[in-house]
Amino acid sequence: MAIATINPATGETIETFTALSEAEIATKLELAQQAFEQYRRVPMQQKSQWMNAAAKILERDKEKFGKLMTLEMGKTVKSAIAEVEKCALVCRYYAERAAEFLADVSVGTDASHSFVRYQPLGIILAVMPWNFPFWQVFRFAAPALMAGNVGLLKHASNVPQCALAIEEIFKEAGLPTGVFQTLLVGSQQVAAIIADPRVKAATLTGSEPAGASLAAAAGKQIKKTVLELGGSDPFIVMPSADIEAAASTAVTARMLCNGQSCIAAKRFIITEAIAEQFEKLLVAKFAALKVGDPMLPDTDVGPLATPSMLEDIDHQVQECVKVGAKVLIGGQPPAERAGNFYLPTIVSQIPVDAAIAQEEFFGPVALLFRVADLDAAIQLANATPFGLGASIWTQDATERDRAIAEIEAGSVFVNGMVKSDPRLPFGGIKHSGYGRELSIQGIHEFVNVKTVWIK
Ligand code: NDP
Repeated sequence: MAIATINPATGETIETFTALSEAEIATKLELAQQAFEQYRRVPMQQKSQWMNAAAKILERDKEKFGKLMTLEMGKTVKSAIAEVEKCALVCRYYAERAAEFLADVSVGTDASHSFVRYQPLGIILAVMPWNFPFWQVFRFAAPALMAGNVGLLKHASNVPQCALAIEEIFKEAGLPTGVFQTLLVGSQQVAAIIADPRVKAATLTGSEPAGASLAAAAGKQIKKTVLELGGSDPFIVMPSADIEAAASTAVTARMLCNGQSCIAAKRFIITEAIAEQFEKLLVAKFAALKVGDPMLPDTDVGPLATPSMLEDIDHQVQECVKVGAKVLIGGQPPAERAGNFYLPTIVSQIPVDAAIAQEEFFGPVALLFRVADLDAAIQLANATPFGLGASIWTQDATERDRAIAEIEAGSVFVNGMVKSDPRLPFGGIKHSGYGRELSIQGIHEFVNVKTVWIK
């Protein structure tokens, strides 16, 4: 994939970039290593000041950064600006809490004093996707850098200007040269970077094949990885739920990032008793969505990030139809538009055992399933290779508790949509990946948990 800014709303190539050569990568790796030797000794208070400065820059220039995201990958500008604000939040969160999260922990043993100390590992490689071009990077960088690591970013090839802008933010915030660097490289250059002895660990957010490939390369070198991969999150609605609230949230949850979010609700599992009512509401709400130029403030759904994302989602919808599913609304690109647009789509009556029902739909397409009761809902929720997030709508405490206990996912949200929050751990199980980002668990992923025992 060429490293380039291509406007997904028009197809126009704005700027292309040359991938770094081996020699240029080597220079940056050396700089990162040298930076680490100094940076690991920087007091927490100084790191907090820099991270708070990064938050201020994000807030000051949120419109500029928001527009850059929209230009490169097509999310609506209002959601892009909100994303920048959230990045400021995660910087402040770790600036404030890192000292507490990384403080020594005393443990009573036969020693006169024994304790756990958290120390940085060194260079951490972050391979990041285009769907949240700022958020994915900041939720890695804020904890990793506050822990004293240094970061190398290999961003998705379609968001190079976002990648360069993030490097600039950290520079302007005052972080020493080399502590956070962007590498404009293709995915085929990643294995060599992770193999370099100076790189100590890696994190990847993206597809299963990309995650498996990075983890295999890291595994060969006995290096830790954190993987945040796809999801096919269930959204279960029980008869006791507030159906109107559930349907409204369903739209927001499905249309997040024009439908291209790992934690978007993708499979709507509705109990028979309220299925008709929910379906009608959802169709009306999808019909009311404004599809169009993502730079306009009143647009609800912009284009997909690349032509291949558009091709893939349309192919998946046609596969659903082939196995007998019904398209209730949408089901094709809008006739009159250039760019990678796809109409908000609802597909119902997909045979649950069809192979296509197992796939992740990365676009504005909701899959509707009807089930008899909670048993069937939980069974269907778990009948996927993924296990990222799940949402259940119910006023019944027993149903709620069963969902929390039995749904196979990294998170369960009750009467709300799955979302990430700096204060809560975020990540998946099964093919959705492993490890956690955010909260105290996130900052502990890339540290040496050192045991100290003193006689
Ligand atoms: P990819 O997984 O291909 O891209 C994500 C990142 O991984 C990019 O930086 C990419 O670089 C890099 N990458 C890709 N292949 C490798 C590899 N073999 N080794 C190392 N790095 C690699 O996602 P796509 O953009 O192709 O989207 C395809 C599908 O991935 C989507 O349909 C969706 O299912 C899933 N996805 C999930 C995301 C999530 O949030 N969990 C985010 C994005 C995608 P480059 O851009 O240079 O190829």
